[in-house]
Amino acid sequence: MKLIVIPGDGIGPETMQVAVDVLHAVNQKFDLGLIMEHEIAGHDSLQQRGATVTPELLAKVRAADGLLLGPMATYDFKDEAKGEINPSKFFRKSLDLFANIRPARTYPGVETLTGPFDLVVVRENTEGFYADRNVESGNSEILVTPDVAISLRRITRHCCERIARSAFELAAIRRQHVTLVHKANVLRVTDGIFLDECHKVAKEFPQVTVDDFIVDAMMAHVVRDPARFDVIVSTNMFGDILSDLTAELSGSLGLGGSLNAGAEHAMGQAAHGSAPDIAGQNKANPFSQVISAAMLLTWHGQRRALPAYLAAAKAIEQAMEATIAAGECTRDVGGSLGTRETGVALLKRL
Ligand code: NAD
Repeated sequence: MKLIVIPGDGIGPETMQVAVDVLHAVNQKFDLGLIMEHEIAGHDSLQQRGATVTPELLAKVRAADGLLLGPMATYDFKDEAKGEINPSKFFRKSLDLFANIRPARTYPGVETLTGPFDLVVVRENTEGFYADRNVESGNSEILVTPDVAISLRRITRHCCERIARSAFELAAIRRQHVTLVHKANVLRVTDGIFLDECHKVAKEFPQVTVDDFIVDAMMAHVVRDPARFDVIVSTNMFGDILSDLTAELSGSLGLGGSLNAGAEHAMGQAAHGSAPDIAGQNKANPFSQVISAAMLLTWHGQRRALPAYLAAAKAIEQAMEATIAAGECTRDVGGSLGTRETGVALLKRL
């Protein structure tokens, strides 16, 4: 497997270093034949190449088997004409990475507000309220007058159908339950299409049970009793917000790993952002990036029927569990170690 590795902005270089060390370790242990090529995007690329991402980089990623992308300082990138492109959007849209898979589970040893749970948020990634991926050129946020702005939300049957399919396929190999999250009481047409397509796909999975919640009420249900959920599917923005909540409920946003997957390509990227408040301080939890790397290995192993990749991902998960249970982790999950030292503790167990 050839992987392109991009550390990203803020805490990215610190957390990505741990993920890369872990990948080197499993590469040796499981003889994966993993090749990692290091690249840049975001602020580094803007400085060195005049744009946060370039067509040459995209060509490299297309030719590789996967991308491991660090968090991006997206809020800083305001003007595409000046090369300030949102790299996460760029790869999601260009590679059609329509399914954002965001698992959230509790770990023995981490104190949480709730009891134990294990769920996955499946978030649509290519349309919805995200103005930078809705239209062929330009942006779907419009400044009508200096005091009036409109933001358009695109919902298509095609994208709803394929994200629903991803959710039901995942539930079929988990606890066989899918929860649909929407706002069809207000967004009757767009979320009506979303619900309609989900129910159509559900008919192909008779063993999977289905329920649905309006997104605002869902926030209460997921805080009150996250253990009742297995796979949760939603449109882009609702899924984005909900998955930060579920990651934090599991102990910390720093446990929020995620995979962005399409039919041909996949990108592992932590759910959180560049965390400028703790960047460069050896405080960031590296597990979100490590989980994202393991998810990329699993994706490749399943696609190519490579048991060694699946075993490597499992070994990473088990080593993480043991490291957390021993309290050898960062402060956000109750430990007292730095990012680097947490990485060392994890490697010791691999
Ligand atoms: P954030 O997700 O970066 O941080 C939110 C909070 O969670 C902060 O207190 C931060 O310290 C903490 N946190 C995040 N990751 C952590 C980790 N690994 N370990 C411990 N604590 C962690 O959100 P923000 O501060 O609102 O955004 C910062 C930048 O990131 C903005 O430019 C935003 O646009 C961007 N962003 C990028 C992505 C992405 O690249 N996929 C996602 C969300 C936000």
